Amino acid sequence: MRQSSLFTKTRKDAPKDEVSKNAQLLIRAGYIHKEMAGVYSYLPLGLHVQENIKRIVREEMSAIRGQELIMTALQRKELWESTGRWDDSVVDVWFKSELKAGGEVGFGWSHEEPIGEMMKNYLASYKDLPVSVYQFQTKLRNEMRAKSGIMRGREFIMKDMYSFAADEATHLAYYESTKPAYMNVFKRLGIGDDTFITFAAGGAFTKFSHEFQTVCEAGEDIVYLNREKGIAINEEVLTDETLESLGVTREELTKTATAEVGNIFNFGQQKATDLGLTIKDAEGKSIPVWMGSYGIGITRLIGVLVEKFSDEKGIVWPEAVAPFLVHLVALNTDDANVRDFADGMYESLKKRGVSVLYDDRDARGGEKFADSDLLGMPYRVIISKRAQEEGQFEVVTRKTGEVQKLNEETLLGFFTTDEDD
Ligand code: ATP
Ligand code: MG
Repeated sequence: MRQSSLFTKTRKDAPKDEVSKNAQLLIRAGYIHKEMAGVYSYLPLGLHVQENIKRIVREEMSAIRGQELIMTALQRKELWESTGRWDDSVVDVWFKSELKAGGEVGFGWSHEEPIGEMMKNYLASYKDLPVSVYQFQTKLRNEMRAKSGIMRGREFIMKDMYSFAADEATHLAYYESTKPAYMNVFKRLGIGDDTFITFAAGGAFTKFSHEFQTVCEAGEDIVYLNREKGIAINEEVLTDETLESLGVTREELTKTATAEVGNIFNFGQQKATDLGLTIKDAEGKSIPVWMGSYGIGITRLIGVLVEKFSDEKGIVWPEAVAPFLVHLVALNTDDANVRDFADGMYESLKKRGVSVLYDDRDARGGEKFADSDLLGMPYRVIISKRAQEEGQFEVVTRKTGEVQKLNEETLLGFFTTDEDD
């Protein structure tokens, strides 16, 4: 993409009321726009990042036979009443509204009830199972605190998946299979080494649920962590009983600030019992379905990546999520030769399938470099009059600052080999 055609511009300062680093950097770089506290629009560059994350999540969910769908934002009051979760004293994040035609609706803060209800139409027998469905949905939650930028939104994108099984063994096996699938996602996003499967509060059916907690200063959670043993316990369940059942001592664990990037929840047959979602088993007996739910905070992840991968100059995107792999920065563009050459380089890289943001603007070098640092593409290629004359082009790695000088041919091949890392 040509930067001259990008409508967003970088800015020196973030809005005064924006206190979180992730939102400050993303706003300054033009990835997001703040509508109000906890509510952010995703601009073209931000949408690229979002889509890159979704693609990775999609691949990993398909690999455990997840089928993608999309549910509605408007939800029926009566359905949530039937499970006792319509009342604000039970669920404190509801946004609700009234229909002009009469009746109340809620805005989806979760889709457990609607998905379970919808499935009644398709699941009749054990032969219809197992099934796993997922979606990328904008969730609406009337959160009290919204101080962590995009890490805690009142409107945010979640990947939520729901599994349905006819027997406990199949159900538990599926629940377990989501753990490596989730870890694959986090590895591919570059936070695998810092993300831990964490024991957290369970529900009616299980003692614990599992959260995926990423070490992050700006996170809102506290976990007690032992990296070597790979054990993490959310402080909300840190009791002597928990320590004993997991075979660790308090001394072995380090109190650590983290952000919850995902969680998985085993409902057993409880949820289906509440919903009246039953099937006929092999003996023709009616039984409630075994269910699990599995969330990933897509937009929270973007915030976590920015918090973890940024420096005083700006964002440092991991390759897997960067909106473009290469930032091609052309200097001396008033010289027609240089401009033609840079245009040619842009076309050649694109032809090879390299994703490129091409800074073809008429601006000073200093400004272009500062913008490039702020935007944070993994590699910067500099085209200047001198570089063109010498036939040597600088490739700067954003993460390390390493500078390599390559000739035209090597440069063109440089990104195609690394491309699908
Ligand atoms: P939290 O404990 O952070 O409030 P939660 O336990 O309510 O989250 P779920 O409702 O299970 O989370 O949502 C699944 C995932 O969605 C979470 O693991 C988190 O990554 C993300 N998420 C939850 N609430 C928000 C929010 N307000 N803004 C952005 N992401 C969120
Ligand atoms: Mg939580």
